[in-house]
Amino acid sequence: MNKPASVPGQFDAVVVGAGFSGLYMLYRLRQLGLSVKVFDSAGDVGGTWYWNRYPGARCDIPTTDYAYSFDPDLEQEWTWSEKYATQPEILDYLRFVTDRHGLRSDIEFSTTVTSARWDEQEERWRITTDARKELRCRYYIMATGCLSVPKSPDIDGASRFAGRVYFTSRWPHEGADFTGQRVAVIGTGSSGIQSIPLIARQASQLTVFQRTANFSIPAHNGPASAERLKQLDEDREGYRHDARWSRGGIPLEPTDILGVTASESVRRERFEAAWAQGELFGILNVFADQGLNPASNDIVAEMIREKIRSIVTDPGAAEALSPKDHYFGTKRPCLDTGYFETFNLPHVRLVDLRKQPIVSVTEEGIDTADESFAFDALVYATGFDAMTGPLVAVDVAGRDGVSLREKWASGPSTYLGLMTAGFPNFFMLTGPGSPSVLSNMTVSIEQHVEWVTGCLKDLREAGFETIEPTALAESGWNQHVQDCAAITLHPTANSWYMGANVPGKPRFFLPYIGGVNAYRQACDDVVSQGYLGFRMTGPGGTRCRDGVIRRMQPDVAMVMELVAAMGLPPMDTLSAADARALMAAMAQTRPPGPEVGEVTDGVIPGPGGDLPYRLYRPAGPPEGPRPLVVYFHGGGWVLGDLDSDDPLCRDLCARSGALVVSVNYRHAPEARFPAAALDAFAAVQWVDAHAAELGGIPGQLAVAGWSAGGNVATVACQLARDAGGPYLAGQVLICPVVDSDMTRLSYQENGEGYILTTALMRWFWDHYADPADRGDRRAAPLRGNLPGLPPTCIVAADFDPLRDEGVAYARALEAAGVPVRLARARGHTHTSVTMVGVVISGAPVRAEIAEALRNFFPNAAPQEPPS
Ligand SMILES: Cc1cc2nc3c(=O)[nH]c(=O)nc-3n(C[C@H](O)[C@H](O)[C@H](O)COP(=O)(O)OP(=O)(O)OC[C@H]3O[C@@H](n4cnc5c(N)ncnc54)[C@H](O)[C@@H]3O)c2cc1C
Repeated sequence: MNKPASVPGQFDAVVVGAGFSGLYMLYRLRQLGLSVKVFDSAGDVGGTWYWNRYPGARCDIPTTDYAYSFDPDLEQEWTWSEKYATQPEILDYLRFVTDRHGLRSDIEFSTTVTSARWDEQEERWRITTDARKELRCRYYIMATGCLSVPKSPDIDGASRFAGRVYFTSRWPHEGADFTGQRVAVIGTGSSGIQSIPLIARQASQLTVFQRTANFSIPAHNGPASAERLKQLDEDREGYRHDARWSRGGIPLEPTDILGVTASESVRRERFEAAWAQGELFGILNVFADQGLNPASNDIVAEMIREKIRSIVTDPGAAEALSPKDHYFGTKRPCLDTGYFETFNLPHVRLVDLRKQPIVSVTEEGIDTADESFAFDALVYATGFDAMTGPLVAVDVAGRDGVSLREKWASGPSTYLGLMTAGFPNFFMLTGPGSPSVLSNMTVSIEQHVEWVTGCLKDLREAGFETIEPTALAESGWNQHVQDCAAITLHPTANSWYMGANVPGKPRFFLPYIGGVNAYRQACDDVVSQGYLGFRMTGPGGTRCRDGVIRRMQPDVAMVMELVAAMGLPPMDTLSAADARALMAAMAQTRPPGPEVGEVTDGVIPGPGGDLPYRLYRPAGPPEGPRPLVVYFHGGGWVLGDLDSDDPLCRDLCARSGALVVSVNYRHAPEARFPAAALDAFAAVQWVDAHAAELGGIPGQLAVAGWSAGGNVATVACQLARDAGGPYLAGQVLICPVVDSDMTRLSYQENGEGYILTTALMRWFWDHYADPADRGDRRAAPLRGNLPGLPPTCIVAADFDPLRDEGVAYARALEAAGVPVRLARARGHTHTSVTMVGVVISGAPVRAEIAEALRNFFPNAAPQEPPS
């Protein structure tokens, strides 16, 4: 039973919403012994499942998974009748849960919360409802749902229609009978796709107005999967645990098969299996790279289009129903029962609004650019103002009266999708920046509710009364959310995930796409690090451990995990020969890098013998000579060769449009300092002298290098300047070694755990140069004479021990009057920017490098960057 309010109108917590989230939140808050009041505009519990009563409304996550897991007895007592339950059954379930736990007594129905204002003095929220009720509470929790504010139809004359009007998201409780009627359905998202086949069964004429064709696969509804029921029977707790730690909230082994490299038969087999299974996460898991790589995505998308063409008999309608304007999965795919087949019925017609836009709704029906239609009923299946809509619909004002609407005017900003800075004790369940709509929401909801409950308990036990995220933690999380999205194809779509369905809504990827498991881990890590990024206050004072929970790029973190799982020996424990063999073996497993026009090998006469080189010529026009870049590979003067940096050289060549000459210099310990530096200078001199033969433009020469290659590249620049030539137009130094001082902060912060370690760097130095030589400017160019060096681009990566020496070199060059561009590889390690085709988030940094190279050669023709 709930604790009653100690003072009338004053509660420990107010919860808005009585759907899956609000009900479970109430249950947990009661367990904490808090007094709670729940409000819902609806007349009963259920949320989504109270409102969306349209024909065909069902869940699209199997009901074995789309259910609460917190109550094992409930799981035993409730049996779902179908693989995908209908709306009435899910609503019954939520009523059953409500009554089973006696939750109803704390819920006030048919009451809308209109405003919530933080009272600084009292440290309480003042809540107002449409019943003019005012309450005060310490914790204000919005369990208002992601899809609970319908989007109003943005069609001219919408109110003019004289017949019956229905909204799928506000369907009348008594239902609708379309028998013998001429019906229009506007919208072909999930609700449209579910309802159209059933409306078609009754209507005498059905006209479907489609703005965007959507991907849909058959649900193959029926009894719940026997295999899944068996799994649950055998080990229910294990199954639920796996769901909680899965990517989407359903136990599923993510495939590692890449669409781009799989054989045609494997592609077909995997796709057909997913099609036959009829599950959302199955069809999203045909290939590991389908959400990232356009080519892989096209394979799945085209197979779905093939299916549509095979079902829909009218080729024109089939074409119009085949989505082509977005990558598969970047808009929520639908599950259907006979959707495409419906368009084969003689009384069903599709109107493609791309060809024939709606001009206005009229009294009789709808006028398009070409035709006037008369209807008895209009059905709007036009979707929702997703995720932020319900939150900003309430006038929420935090510290200093700042409103949530104002704060989020250019896009939502949250910490973990749970809280937002400036709004103490205000929690959102499944808010923007949480996995929510990209997951099985019941799993996400349970996680959120449990995290909030744990937080309130910890707060109380530690004697704190308020909690709020810091601005730093919040901006770090927002960045992480966007970084996760940026490596996927999602931001390319005009989806409701991007806010693109609501005119005027800022374009912003709303949910967290890093996965339920990664999100749960982040939330747990925040707690285990003493509520990192939260400020807590109470009578005893303030506690704040400020910081950012995820600073590394998500794909870099993934690579780090994979490398750690390989259990490789640390390089610095190996002989040089074994370390080289290991590096060569690793290189075999990488993607090859982009195609270039031509690759030829040759040799350069060096001071200690021939130096092999590889020349990369860009594809395509213009014919004729191009600027030249002499590139030096990384590997600490000990490792690396033409092959090790081949994908990077291809990428640089393709992006910059310059010829790239990658040069092997002598390795330590066989040839110690200053052999590598002297070889580099000799190579630059030779390439300059042979520019025309190589296909280059004489006098248009730059150098580039990564790591130790950056070291020898910039030493070559210094030697060239001192020697009065060759003339160099610029230098690009990617995470270069420019000093032998290993005490800088970046060594302390990143000297362990990020592949290039302090121990490995020491091993490199020991192989290359005697301690007495390490201050020589040809080993530590930062200590050299810097004026007169060419324009420079330096890449400094956040998680690189060499970061601060790169930054110091940039500052010193600037001070010496050299134009410098410092490119920060945010969230990257020493190696990750160079991982072409593996670390997608490195591409923008490489694009910046290529731009710097092009700027060195103002007359050079730019080239299309590789995709
Ligand atoms: C048709 C449809 C099918 C779906 N199918 C699935 C599925 O298969 N799997 C899945 O994971 N998710 C699905 N979803 C998403 C679904 O919304 C969630 O799974 C889940 O039901 C959300 O629960 P909730 O309690 O967070 O929010 P909701 O169920 O949306 O409940 C929020 C409640 O808050 C109330 N409310 C909002 N603002 C106020 C206010 N200011 N004052 C008072 N009350 C307010 C609303 O009236 C509503 O009742 C579906 C959504 C829709 C629309």
